[in-house]
Amino acid sequence: MLNIVLFGPPGSGKGTQAVMLKEKYSLFHISTGDIFRREIKGKTELGLEVTGYLDKGLLVPDEVTFKVLATEIRNNMDKIGNGILFDGYPRTTPQAEIMDKFFDERGTPVSMVLSLLVHDEEVVKRILQRGKTSGRSDDNDESIVRERLRVYKEQTLPLADYYRGQGKYVELNGEGSIEEIFGRLCAEIDKVK
Ligand code: AMP
Repeated sequence: MLNIVLFGPPGSGKGTQAVMLKEKYSLFHISTGDIFRREIKGKTELGLEVTGYLDKGLLVPDEVTFKVLATEIRNNMDKIGNGILFDGYPRTTPQAEIMDKFFDERGTPVSMVLSLLVHDEEVVKRILQRGKTSGRSDDNDESIVRERLRVYKEQTLPLADYYRGQGKYVELNGEGSIEEIFGRLCAEIDKVK
């Protein structure tokens, strides 16, 4: 089983690459951001609970986020045979710790963490460009985009050391064409497959 975490700042191309990688390696793609947006659109109780966090560019609390992840996994056990591609999870150290416990208990630990390196100004440019068509309010407002980047550096980036310590962390150049970046990711995955 191949459990891969795509890591990197907002706008680093995780979502774009995930769609291509899940096809190539027959992985089950989980984007916690997509799940939250789906719930918000459906005006569910969970959607109402998390909408304020997404609007402000802040992280949804860990307990809520892990519950969402565990539910998604439990509801899709039949589709997870080859492994999971995580996109946007984990984003804090407690999220990584609880995820490790969950998968270690099942004998299917995280295989590798692929980190896309993209400069700040490139990230801001990409997200504002995406905002023209994504319909995401958090992609349209530069101050929210910069807040997401600040939150990433403060709360998510420390996870690099967490995974470095486990010998699972691989950094890649996240700039260039979509195909170039895809090629770099595949080369790393093929090393462990
Ligand atoms: P994304 O689509 O990955 O950029 O996520 C959009 C928003 O969803 C983030 O800015 C957070 O508000 C929320 N979110 C997504 N994944 C997580 C997570 N793992 N932990 C906390 N909040 C999250």
